[in-house]
Amino acid sequence: MIKNEKIKIKIYSRNILKYRELYNNLKIGDFVEIDIDDLPKGSHMLVDVVCDVCGKEKQLSYKEYNRNLEQCNYYACSTKCAWGKNKITNLERYGDENYNNREKCKETKFKNHGDENFVNTNKTKKQI
Ligand SMILES: [Zn+2]
Repeated sequence: MIKNEKIKIKIYSRNILKYRELYNNLKIGDFVEIDIDDLPKGSHMLVDVVCDVCGKEKQLSYKEYNRNLEQCNYYACSTKCAWGKNKITNLERYGDENYNNREKCKETKFKNHGDENFVNTNKTKKQI
């Protein structure tokens, strides 16, 4: 979720017409505090957000925040916090939240190594 309800922006010639409809007596070069809901969805303005999963605070563009919100309608700050989104997507697409495409994996191993159960033992020996 977004931490602040308002954000301070500078008025330019390219955005004065949009904000003049909402706020009176604006001039180019003025700074005005607007509601974040009035920002365009693709705005690059930085906003303070709080992760809906872990509660960590972060600063990112409003555009990135909206892109993150499109999936599952909640904000996740990292891949670890977004793990719940992955489970929901897998459940919608494949009917199983822990889906793994084993058939494609077997095809790739057979194509690359000639054996669908290939395990690279030389690489494993080096790690031990
Ligand atoms: Zn988080």
